[in-house]
Amino acid sequence: MDCLFCKIIAGEIPSAKVYEDETVYAFKDIAPMAPVHILIVPKAHLASVNEITPENSAVVAHIFEVAAKLAAEMGLAEDGYRVVTNCGAHAGQTVFHLHFHLLGGKKLKVEMC
Ligand code: 5GP
Ligand code: ZN
Repeated sequence: MDCLFCKIIAGEIPSAKVYEDETVYAFKDIAPMAPVHILIVPKAHLASVNEITPENSAVVAHIFEVAAKLAAEMGLAEDGYRVVTNCGAHAGQTVFHLHFHLLGGKKLKVEMC
């Protein structure tokens, strides 16, 4: 499959890995928008939130557990941080492998739309 994040997970494209387990991979965003900007992705390819189903949704809860763990490790828990995913063109999704941005390390702008 011609998917950038599948290639990163497979090690075919280098990444700055910060966490990995059986179902989840996390790495630094190549163009960080905040002092901490990590992408947390399921290893199984799902294009976006549109493809989350009762059969595969457990990984999403696990991704939030990983986000909380990484945020704590990176000292973000007290001041706060954001976990966000973009779905489709109107949200600005550019890589069509489901991913969650973990952003923190500064006071983030509050722009919901
Ligand atoms: P999206 O806009 O789809 O929500 O987020 C895609 C993110 O992937 C962007 O923040 C972008 O900087 C990041 N990205 C794109 N290509 C690469 C890459 O090759 N390596 C890494 N580490 N991040 C990437
Ligand atoms: Zn993929």
